[in-house]
Amino acid sequence: MARSDCYPWTEAAFDAFFSSKDRQAHAYLLAGQSGLGKTVLAEQLAKAMLCQQQVDDACGECHSCRLLESGNHPDLHVLQSEKRTVEVNDLFAIYAPRYLEDESKRKRRKKPSAIIAIDQVRGVIPDINTRPHLSACRIIVLNAAEDLNINAANSLLKSLEEPPSDCFFLLISHEPGRLLPTLRSRCNRIDFRTPDKAQTLEWLNKQLPGRTDTARLIDSAKGIPLRALALADGEINTDESRVFQAMHKLANRQTDPVTAAAELIKKSELIEILTLLQIMTSTIIRLKIAARNGSAVEKDENKALIDLGKRLNFKQLYTFLDDLSESKQLAGGPLDDTLALESGLISWQRMFSK
Ligand SMILES: [Zn+2]
Repeated sequence: MARSDCYPWTEAAFDAFFSSKDRQAHAYLLAGQSGLGKTVLAEQLAKAMLCQQQVDDACGECHSCRLLESGNHPDLHVLQSEKRTVEVNDLFAIYAPRYLEDESKRKRRKKPSAIIAIDQVRGVIPDINTRPHLSACRIIVLNAAEDLNINAANSLLKSLEEPPSDCFFLLISHEPGRLLPTLRSRCNRIDFRTPDKAQTLEWLNKQLPGRTDTARLIDSAKGIPLRALALADGEINTDESRVFQAMHKLANRQTDPVTAAAELIKKSELIEILTLLQIMTSTIIRLKIAARNGSAVEKDENKALIDLGKRLNFKQLYTFLDDLSESKQLAGGPLDDTLALESGLISWQRMFSK
């Protein structure tokens, strides 16, 4: 992974790491809340430091870079809990089992252990004190450092204090306040803060083309970018995105009106769904007019709506809006809600038939 693959809000930290004249430091603490990209930055730093091209960035092509991606680099050592290794499927999870307990012992436990135990630290110490096998240095990753139990932390202290000159520690911590002060004080600290919302929004819109609720996702995630993405990856949890997804799938024949109506009505009131359909349709019309006048702002968040609009003409869109108004007037009457919605969605999908 190269610097260009950094999250936009961690690029500065990546650059600062390599431009810093203070390369005497052998231990770094990547500190900040979960969801800010610390683990990914640690991966990138490790790759860049191990790369044989030595150009302050991983070339992606040398022997070291290729071995690293395949999970076989002899100079990357990762200590993390069994729990994290099972739950998070990333590069570090590939390297962690080397220092975990034997699988047979692990299987006897009901739940995977959430700590980094002293045996894991003892396991890595000989590797700290031998020469690098392939690259110019060795990297020891602690992910996350607060998972070290007290004995493990104490036994790590000595190595942290006087590491060999070609050995670097990257400690990741989501809760740096829980670390032993003696551990913290031996590290150069790289603090991660919540990026500004405009930057997060731009990034999230790129990750989620077609979503119209990205700003709200960011607010729900209290500004933490990866948490906002996780919210989006989980259940589609706003009425607006549910309705939009249904419109999108219907247009592309990925669902049928009966199924879509049943799903929508399970979670939202008919009148709310119809209102959202009206809002989206009006937005499509507005974007279409803007495009005709040459004043369209093709913001990512609007792209999916613009694409739908390109497949429809104005007459269809206005007729659909009229139908929606009529359905709204009938809502709450004798007609069954699901049937009423189905008929609206049938009209929507029919507009996209060739
Ligand atoms: Zn390389």
